[in-house]
Order: sequence, then structure tokens, then C-alpha cells
Amino acid sequence: MMEDIQPIESWKVVKDVPFAIAGPCSAESEEQLFTTCKGIKDLDLGISMLRAGIWKPRTRPNTFEGVGEIGLKWMKDVKTELGMPAAVEVANANHVELALKYGMDVLWVGARSTVNPFTVQEIADALKGVDIPVVVKNPINPDLALWKGGIERIYNAGIRQIAALHRGFSSFEKTKYRNIPMWQIAIALKSELPNIPLLCDPSHIGGTRDLILPVSQKALDLDYDGLMIETHCDPDNALSDAKQQVTPQRLAEILNAIKIRKETSDNEEFNSILDTMRRQIDNVDREILENMAARKTLVNKLGEYKKENNVTVFQPDRWLEVFKSRADWGKQLNVNEEFVGKLFQLIHDESIRIQTKKVNAELQEEKK
Ligand code: PEP
Ligand code: MN
Repeated sequence: MMEDIQPIESWKVVKDVPFAIAGPCSAESEEQLFTTCKGIKDLDLGISMLRAGIWKPRTRPNTFEGVGEIGLKWMKDVKTELGMPAAVEVANANHVELALKYGMDVLWVGARSTVNPFTVQEIADALKGVDIPVVVKNPINPDLALWKGGIERIYNAGIRQIAALHRGFSSFEKTKYRNIPMWQIAIALKSELPNIPLLCDPSHIGGTRDLILPVSQKALDLDYDGLMIETHCDPDNALSDAKQQVTPQRLAEILNAIKIRKETSDNEEFNSILDTMRRQIDNVDREILENMAARKTLVNKLGEYKKENNVTVFQPDRWLEVFKSRADWGKQLNVNEEFVGKLFQLIHDESIRIQTKKVNAELQEEKK
């Protein structure tokens, strides 16, 4: 699917520093935009692209909702002066028209737009016949199909330079993140659409400055293609997302601290040791499955025996005991407690499924 996706031309990847888009959450004034972007350029880290929000989709009214069209003029002047490409968010056909009028290089669809197929379709329709890269953020709810659907709508409008941007998912539950990453959703997107570059937005995932580095490192370790990091010349006084914005100086520290790990190596010794380790892991996995098969045989016998003695399949006391003893064994063996809990929940569910099937099958036979 989407085999003819093309790399985004204006993205140049500089050796040893991850591909990064940086700039303020919002364009606030001509001076703030210029000072911030000049600060980013002067780092001389090869940061590939500038960003700024022109229209801000805020959760609640009476907060700063962006400066509108004038911000595009500032952005045009800044990008021309600094010789760097710029990206802005578009949330309707009018935004697209204006962003194109002011010569923006990349457009992004925000999380609150991806969630709404009417909005994405309106943006896609406005892009028909236009050749501009588009970045699609994940929807605010954890829905992989909706994210893919947004990408498909943009693709169907004829856009071929498309990237996905992971910014995490909203939830009522309070965690250390502003938006829970749920990495597995982005990884699923990457495996289903392997030729769409995947970027990470650690600013909106983390919501605080101290989470930007660990979230970025994790994304790059998961083989993401780059980052979008909100950067502001005076973060404490930013009109939106103050807590998560960093100064250009801090941005440089973050990018320099990130370790770029290679996907492969051509060192023969390394490859041979890696191969041996992988064979060992293969053997352990095989043993795990042989044990699962042995467990299944026992569970089948158990089902049969319970049936003969007219005893229910599920017995809460026994389950509690299993759960507790496995947690204790796991602890003794230094296996993560949460993992052991989830694993035995799965094993127990499977056991109940097998036993119930057995009992029901025999009931059906009796009826015949
Ligand atoms: C943003 O990038 O400033 C933004 C509004 O992000 P999101 O759509 O991820 O909330
Ligand atoms: Mn923001």
C-alpha cells in the first residue's frame, strides 16, 4: 500500500544529530518568532525545519488561539531571512489556502483534526493538485485506523510526500505524560505503512521539559525517523504550552545528548556474537511454547475431570492463589511484576477458554 510515497525533499538528515523540526508552539509576535528561529539556526546543528502554530486549537476558550494570517507573513519573512523551510498547522481549507499563499514548505494536520474525517477530507480536497509535503499527527484518541484513514485521505488527494507524527493520546487517567505515548500504536502504523516516515513529538507527549530527552531517546531507539520539538526564546512566558517549551540552548543540549544507535553493524565479530545470542533466545522461546503445549494437555485433562465431577470451570479462590504464587515466583526470579501479572492473566484466560470449550463440546454431544 502507498508504494509510491516519496521522501520529503526539504528534509536533510545531518550525521550524528537526529532529523528535527523546531520552533515555537505558537507564533506570538514578529520578534518572538524571529528571535526563536534565529536562536535555532545559530545552534548550527543542522536542524532541518522551523515550525510555528498560526491558529491554535485550544482545549478551552478564552485562551490564546493564535495570531492568524499575520503570523504567516512573519513566518515567510523569517524563513526567507534565515534560509530555512517552515511548517505550519492547517485545520481547514482556508488555512491551506493561506499557508500556500505565504509559501509555507510543509503543512501538518493536528491531532484534533485527524480525529475528524470531515476536517481531514476538507484539507485533502483543498490540497488537490498541490505538491506540498503533509505531516499527519495521530488523532487524540488511540485509534490506529483513524490515523491511517487520515493519511489515506491525504494520499488520495494526490499528495505523495507524507509523514506521520506521533504526539501521544489523551486520557482521563493522570500519568506522568501529558498525552500517553502508547508506543505500540505508532509501531503498528510503522509496520503497516513502512514507507511513511514516522516522527515523534516529545513536547506534546511529555508536556514538561524534563520528559523531552527521555521520550526522544525512546523514539529514536524504536527507529523513528525524526523529532518535532517545541522551542521558544522565553518559554516561561510563552502564550501556549509554556511548561513544555525549551530554549534553543536547551534544544541543543537535548539533541547532543541523544544517542543515535545504528540498526545494523558491519563488524563481523559483533554480528556473529549477536547471531549466537539470537539462537539462544530462539531456543528459550521454543521451550516456552513447548511448556505452553504441555500446560494445554494438562488443562484439557483438568477440564475433563471437572466435568465428570460436576465442578465449575472457574474457581476464584484457585485463580487468586495462582496469581499470587506466580507473582511471588516472578519476584524471586527478578521478572517484572506487572509483566508476570499480564502474562498469567493471558494464560489463565486461555485455560478457561480451553476448559469451557471442552465442557460445551460434551454438552453438545449429549444433546445429539
Ligand atoms: C502543536 O503541535 O502545537 C499542536 C497543536 O499539537 P497537537 O495537534 O499534537 O495537539
Ligand atoms: Mn503546542
